[in-house]
Amino acid sequence: MADEHDTGDGAKGPGFATLCIHGKKHLDKHEVGRPIRAVSTPIFQSSTFAFENAEHGAAIFRGEDPGYVYTRLGNPTQAAFESELAYLEQGEAALALASGMAAATTAVLNCCRSGDHIVAGDTLYGGTHQLFTQTLPRLGITVTEVPATDPANFARAITKKTRLVYLETPANPTLVLTDIAAVSEVARARGVPVLVDNTFCTPYLQNPLKLGADIVLHSATKYIGGHGDTVAGVLVGKADWIMRARMEVLRDLGGCISPFNAWLLLRGLKTLPVRMDRHIANAMEVAQFLSFHPKVESVIYPGLKTHPQYELARRQQRGAGGMISFLLKGGREAGRVVMDNVQLCTLAVSLGDVDTLIEHPATMTHSTYSEAELLKVGIHPAMVRLSVGLENVEDIIADLRRALALA
Ligand SMILES: *Cc1c(COP(=O)(O)O)cnc(C)c1O
Repeated sequence: MADEHDTGDGAKGPGFATLCIHGKKHLDKHEVGRPIRAVSTPIFQSSTFAFENAEHGAAIFRGEDPGYVYTRLGNPTQAAFESELAYLEQGEAALALASGMAAATTAVLNCCRSGDHIVAGDTLYGGTHQLFTQTLPRLGITVTEVPATDPANFARAITKKTRLVYLETPANPTLVLTDIAAVSEVARARGVPVLVDNTFCTPYLQNPLKLGADIVLHSATKYIGGHGDTVAGVLVGKADWIMRARMEVLRDLGGCISPFNAWLLLRGLKTLPVRMDRHIANAMEVAQFLSFHPKVESVIYPGLKTHPQYELARRQQRGAGGMISFLLKGGREAGRVVMDNVQLCTLAVSLGDVDTLIEHPATMTHSTYSEAELLKVGIHPAMVRLSVGLENVEDIIADLRRALALA
């Protein structure tokens, strides 16, 4: 059995199995130990990190040494993404997580305990709405959802127990905007932090922290990753708030991001502005095409003057984004025909991908809303949502034109 390795100098070295795991460590020093200067941040695919000695390990655990311990709590590839995103959002620190929903639960539990209260806009990603109306009440945390277009609604809903104001702007899928500066002012006067889900805009188009918000959340699955190949989330905020989110909530709930997914996000960030510019340009042309189409009842896109908050979009965002919602004159059935007959566009949830994605919020992403809730918040049962991708825009339009002809 090849159990011991002949080192060639007559001495018996470590066994084969030991060598498979530990390698020739002396080689490391000379060949891997050269300055690396990799242009792309490496993937530190390591679950754990060695301490120099017992005291060094103890010092890290006491928080006196910034060394890495274990990838659930921090990892160099995660850290590279976090510091870059904190910089882009102009915040002090960031925490990357396994998904946008892991970011939402981590943020909520970092602000609230049983008995506390949240005020949220009433149009939210369907999963967030489900968290607020089903899961958090089971933990004794209550949520009041208010129409997000009027900051006075937030002022009225905040109570002595309110620990968080939660906004999504533009909201998914109605593209309703909330005035971040105005709501932040209202909340600050009552000592309540404001979180903004900035998934639709990305830091390229909107910086909520500069407008007065305290915490930014992204489903990095969407535009930040940008290629439809990973699920991830991130929070940005004050360093002490992020530290507590990491060392109390993430440590205990465990929704950490993998080093590989953090690396995919780093790669996504490199092309974010180029992609966003094209998403916006394509979405503007598609929105105009739909607006003039005889079978289309209405188009919701913050870049069109017909959007009721067009002025707020111009003031608050540096671009209108890549998301469009529309209604057909033939209602829900006509929408179904379009979704079933597109060929270039893909019938799928998610958004912010290079591919154009089309879906039906009422029965898909927002099926967590009851019929009554859908109507109340303006998610029309016939609404179709489009995440405009990066294909040649003539091809996207030709595909929609052909499918609309059948509707
Ligand atoms: C997708 C989405 C989420 C949830 O993110 P996941 O990465 O799917 O967990 C939250 N907010 C918005 C606006 C989203 O579009």
